[in-house]
Amino acid sequence: MLGEKKVQWRLRDWGISRQRYWGCPIPIIHCDDCGSVPVPDDQLPVVLPDDCVPDGAGNPLHKRPDFLHCACPKCGKPARRETDTMDTFVDSSWYYARFATPGNDKTMVDERVNYWLPVDQYIGGIEHAILHLLYSRFWTKVMGDLGLVTYREPFKRLLTQGMVLNHLFSRRSDKTGIEWFAPEEVNLLKDEAGRVTGATAVSDGQPVEYGGFGTMSKSKRNGVDPNAMIEQYGADTSRFFMMFTAPPEQTLEWSDAGVEGSYRFLKRVWTFGHVFASQIKPLIPAARKLGSAKLPDELACLRREIHLNLKQANYDLGKQQFNTVASSCMKMLNALEKAPRDSGIAAEVIEECFGILLRVLSPITPHITHTLWAELGYGADILSAAWPEPLEAALVQDEIELVLQVLGKTRGSVKVPANADKGAIEALAVASEVAQKFMEGKPAKKIIVVPGRLVNIVV
Ligand SMILES: [Zn+2]
Repeated sequence: MLGEKKVQWRLRDWGISRQRYWGCPIPIIHCDDCGSVPVPDDQLPVVLPDDCVPDGAGNPLHKRPDFLHCACPKCGKPARRETDTMDTFVDSSWYYARFATPGNDKTMVDERVNYWLPVDQYIGGIEHAILHLLYSRFWTKVMGDLGLVTYREPFKRLLTQGMVLNHLFSRRSDKTGIEWFAPEEVNLLKDEAGRVTGATAVSDGQPVEYGGFGTMSKSKRNGVDPNAMIEQYGADTSRFFMMFTAPPEQTLEWSDAGVEGSYRFLKRVWTFGHVFASQIKPLIPAARKLGSAKLPDELACLRREIHLNLKQANYDLGKQQFNTVASSCMKMLNALEKAPRDSGIAAEVIEECFGILLRVLSPITPHITHTLWAELGYGADILSAAWPEPLEAALVQDEIELVLQVLGKTRGSVKVPANADKGAIEALAVASEVAQKFMEGKPAKKIIVVPGRLVNIVV
């Protein structure tokens, strides 16, 4: 072999000093005779004055003789302390390692860091993807080389979250340039299909320009105040809306109707909790049967639907597809609301199923689920409850429903045992009332069975 391909990584020169007084001090003393001398260990840390007031003219540390003037650690002659401080990228490169070793005032980190780090999941905006993440990796390798940590990479997994967008409204005038309007300051004009075609200002009724969706920004006045949202709907609604509306790495278009919808869904969860407490839970028999009971069709169906959605939700959680986890929760609630609730065994099934829904929902809406979990008697704290796993027994289907066609036309359906073979399915299909009616007494010439889907009888 003559040569091979190799990837080479290179960090550009990184000027870490900044001419401002916040940030970490650079522990260097300048002496006319000795040059740049490191501050000796026993004089560390260098502490910045905390009463500096910037006046807009240079680094205020220059005007602080008590900080600036010191003795040279080497020759003892009067010297000057370095007044530049370190770039904030320096701190963001390793703060998480420091978080893992609180209370240690002797060293940068200690052995606890190797237990907690590397970070399992990093979540950040795309703006961090190059500089900060690259510096962090570099810094980690230096700490590794110095024997401070045993790992070589700071983060195991990266999720780059999408931005939140909202409508943009503006008006141009010769006098004031561009004037931006907040979404609540305009009335929308829509076409028949409900698309926004324009808008007028609430204040004067005059047209404003609609600019479509854009990144939320203070200057363009299209941000949403989280506090106002929480005030009106609660934190759970805001969380559910953001999780449900888009996968985390995609952009999210703000929608008041979407927020309303999330609020309605959570109110239904709450209402179901109270129906459960007052009407369903009292039916649960003292001698429970769910473990061994053969369930009536409707209840087996409910239980299967909940466990299927749980299986899907667990899979999606692993892939960080939180939006589909939220929709699985909605499907679970739909099924629960329609479920029969007139017997002890129904009450037991609902108790199990609602308990699953609450736990799957809990990372998205922790407050409402925590309260319901405790109030409905599931346990003291949903956070310490075991995460639900789908039961194979609940997923098994005794009977499946196949589409029934006669001469290629769908005429109805036929129920067959889930383990029925081709011959049994053909017999059941031909014998069914629907088939008999549409075959009009003719014999079946050919029967096509698509397993799990349909039966087509050719006469
Ligand atoms: Zn000196």
